[in-house]
Amino acid sequence: EDYSYSQVLFRNDPASKMGLVKIHFPDMNSYIYSSVRFVIPSVIFTLVLLVTFIFTIVVIFRQKRYTEMRNDFINNMTHELKTPIAAAYSAVDALLNYRQGEDPSKRAQYLQLCLDQLSHLSGLVEQILDMSLERRRKQELHREPVSIRALFERLTRLYSLRAGRPVHFLTEVVPPDLSLQADPELLSQAIGNLIDNAIKYSLGEPEITLWAGCEGAFYAVTVSDRGCGIPSASVGRIFDKFYRVPAGDRHDVKGYGLGLYHVRQIVERHGGRITVSPRPRGGSIFKIQIPK
Ligand code: ADP
Repeated sequence: EDYSYSQVLFRNDPASKMGLVKIHFPDMNSYIYSSVRFVIPSVIFTLVLLVTFIFTIVVIFRQKRYTEMRNDFINNMTHELKTPIAAAYSAVDALLNYRQGEDPSKRAQYLQLCLDQLSHLSGLVEQILDMSLERRRKQELHREPVSIRALFERLTRLYSLRAGRPVHFLTEVVPPDLSLQADPELLSQAIGNLIDNAIKYSLGEPEITLWAGCEGAFYAVTVSDRGCGIPSASVGRIFDKFYRVPAGDRHDVKGYGLGLYHVRQIVERHGGRITVSPRPRGGSIFKIQIPK
C-alpha cells in the first residue's frame, strides 16, 4: 500500500502559495515490521526466563518439603528406637545389678520384657531397611496363585488381635474361590498395610469392608473404612515416601508415612495401580488393581 500525507505550512499567509509539505511512504508495513522484529525475540526470551524461574522455585519448594518430611521421619524413628533400647537396658541392668534374677518369676518376667523389646527393635530396623529401594529391587517377585478368601481370613484375624479394640470386618469375594497371580508375601503386606491404616484412622470400633473381584482386565481388591477420610488436597500425595496428612498439633496416630508408599511399590511391581476415593458417607476406599 502507498501512504502519503500532506500538510499546508503557512496557513495564515495567503500570499504564499508554495508552503505545502508532502510525505510519502512507499511501503509503510515493512517499515513497522522491521522496527518490531527486534522486540519479538526479547519477549520470547523473557518468557522463557520466567518459566525457568517459576520451575526452579517449584523444585526448590518441593525439595524443601521433602527434606522436612525426611527430618520428621528421622526424629520420630530415633525416638522410637530409643524406647525399646532403654527398656531392655534397664531390665538387664535390674537382673545383673539388683539381684532381680534370683526370683525365678521375676527373672522370667524381665527376660520376656527384653525379648519383646528386642523383637520390637528388630521390627523397626526391618522397616528402615525396607526403605532402601535397592533391597526391594533385589527381592524377587515369586508369583503364584493366592486365594483371596484365605488371605482375607488370615489378615482379619491378625489385625483384630493387634488392634486391641473391637474391629468389625465385612468381607466379600466374587467369585468366592477367586485367586490371583501374585507374590503371596508382598500382597499380604500391601493389603495388611491398608487394613492397618483403616483401623488406625478410625475412631471407636472401626468398620472395615474388604472386597475382591474382577473388573475387566483387572483383579480388584478394595479396603473401605468409615474413618476420618483424606482431605482432597492430600489425596495426590499420600502414596509419596514420608508423606503424612498434616494433623496440626495432634500426634495421636503414630506412623512414618511409609505404609502407603510400600503398598504402591508392591502394586506397581505387579504391574498394577492403586487409587483412593472418598466414601459417600465418610471414610475412604483404597483400591488395588492388578492385571489378569
Ligand atoms: P502413616 O505411617 O502416617 O500411616 P501411610 O503412608 O500409611 O503413613 O499413610 C500416609 C497418610 O495417609 C497418613 O498419615 C494418613 O494421614 C493418611 N491415611 C492413610 N490411610 C488412611 C485412611 N484409611 N483414612 C484416612 N487417612 C489415611
